[in-house]
Amino acid sequence: MQIEKHKVATIDYTLTNNTGEVLDSSEGQEPMTYIQGVGSLITGLEAALEGKSAGEELQVTLSPEKAYGERDESLVQVVERSAFEGVEELETGMQFQARSNTGQTQLICVTQIDGDEVTVDGNHPLAGETLHFDVTVVEVREATEEELNHGHAHGAGGHQH
Ligand code: ZN
Repeated sequence: MQIEKHKVATIDYTLTNNTGEVLDSSEGQEPMTYIQGVGSLITGLEAALEGKSAGEELQVTLSPEKAYGERDESLVQVVERSAFEGVEELETGMQFQARSNTGQTQLICVTQIDGDEVTVDGNHPLAGETLHFDVTVVEVREATEEELNHGHAHGAGGHQH
């Protein structure tokens, strides 16, 4: 069976960046199980997996525009510490939900703290990165009706509920 729209695929993967640093991997964990064609994977990876079957291995390199986009430096802002009222110990690496000017919620990350000035970055952590995926297809099966209704795969590597 081949991976195509509404098939459930289980994959082992390792994600590295241009310098070879491992950003994410299923190694030592459950492989990932997802439904093809419902937008649960980044588009470039999903496109590369289309038509593959169990046992196939592939290497996929995605430029930033096919992955999480280029960095947008206008999303980096310096705000006053008082904006984080109620946060007891502010540290770099902390993430917060913020509301942008256009009213959308956005995940921001604290990247630097300099006295009263806190630098926050609203870019996706992988924005600007070229991503290298090493993927092995473990299994391909039909999605159940319930999975399609929920929009995600169930069972090992998928949602447990
Ligand atoms: Zn579900």
